[in-house]
Amino acid sequence: MKNFFKNLGEKIKANKGKTIAISVTAFVLACVIVTLCCLSAFLFNRFSEGFVPTDEQLAAQAGQYKRVVIIGVDGVGDFFGKTYTPNFDRMFSDKKIGDTQINASVTYSGVAVYPTISCENWMSMFHGVRPVYHGFIFRSTNQRVEQGEHTNEEKYPSFIAQYLAQNPNGKALAVCTWRGVSNGIIEDDPRITKYNSYPDDIYEFLHNYSERSATVKTVIDATEEPKVDTVIRDDIAGIEGQLYEYLCDQVMQYGYSDETIEMRDAMTMQRIITETVSDPDKYQIAYMHLDQVDHAGHSFGYGKPGYVNAVSRVDMLIGRLYDAYEAAGMLEDTLFVLCTDHGHRLPGGHKNHGKNTDLEVNVTFAIAGKTIKSGTPGKYVNTDLAPIVSYARGVKAPDTWQGRVPYGMFLD
Ligand SMILES: [Zn+2]
Ligand SMILES: [Zn+2]
Repeated sequence: MKNFFKNLGEKIKANKGKTIAISVTAFVLACVIVTLCCLSAFLFNRFSEGFVPTDEQLAAQAGQYKRVVIIGVDGVGDFFGKTYTPNFDRMFSDKKIGDTQINASVTYSGVAVYPTISCENWMSMFHGVRPVYHGFIFRSTNQRVEQGEHTNEEKYPSFIAQYLAQNPNGKALAVCTWRGVSNGIIEDDPRITKYNSYPDDIYEFLHNYSERSATVKTVIDATEEPKVDTVIRDDIAGIEGQLYEYLCDQVMQYGYSDETIEMRDAMTMQRIITETVSDPDKYQIAYMHLDQVDHAGHSFGYGKPGYVNAVSRVDMLIGRLYDAYEAAGMLEDTLFVLCTDHGHRLPGGHKNHGKNTDLEVNVTFAIAGKTIKSGTPGKYVNTDLAPIVSYARGVKAPDTWQGRVPYGMFLD
């Protein structure tokens, strides 16, 4: 044995150049293999497993709903499945309304795309492709969409643009506490009404509140100059006066400080309710973006008391929407969707999300309506939101989308 190593040593010495070349090649090969494994794990393994609806299936869905209402909850991950959320449970449960059977399909083990950053995921959710395709990946992406930078929308249209392309008289609404979605992720189109909720809207509302309504100046683009006056009503049956009381209560607790994210989410929800209940036939797609859970995740960490409180407050807002729609008789012809971009890590580290851990990657996806199949759907990936909403509207998806409709989510 000793001799063997001695001989080997001498052989290596004699072929020094060759040995170095072989070692370098082996090292480079190993690096390439490791890099490819990491890349495929991180970037390429989140393939959708669902189906592309046929023309007959699309025709059967078309006209089933007057509106699709999408509740985007930033940073909640799988946490709806881990805490007490009675209003979420009420909205996403099987029930009979009049003669109509409504079913719900819910999963808490949907999959975010990598990296688990807001812009990357919302962009994938709206435009149906993974980040390397829509092109917003890693480089200050959140700030770029906040400032109004758009992706290559012609090739990968959002599900809203895709709906409008096939329904030229259609209208969509987007109300966002995080302006990134309205400014950069959703296309600019006169048929899409956009609002962002800012602290000034709260002050404006409280200042001008009379007779249960107030005119609020709002911002709809990146310039942050108030552009539109809208009337926020607070006399909606089922939730009368709740916004005023809620905001007064929040001001008592926090004062007019910079911690206004809860109030802004309340304003976002109220605007969605006001706009859709006061004119139920106007919008066929209504999207809202609630942001306080993500803020709580950054401040306190996943699952901590402050995070739980934020999820509870969002659940209360969901209850307000449900009550208003119930009082207005709008539950029957509405498809409700709740989705999220990513979860959060436990406290510690420089950022609370962005990586590939289960708490960041696992996401809640919930959908309820009369064409939904009760239970848990097949694998859901965030790129699937666009094809799901399009299918529910009877709209054909573009060939470029990578997302699919998960199996078992809709009635056959
Ligand atoms: Zn986020
Ligand atoms: Zn965040």
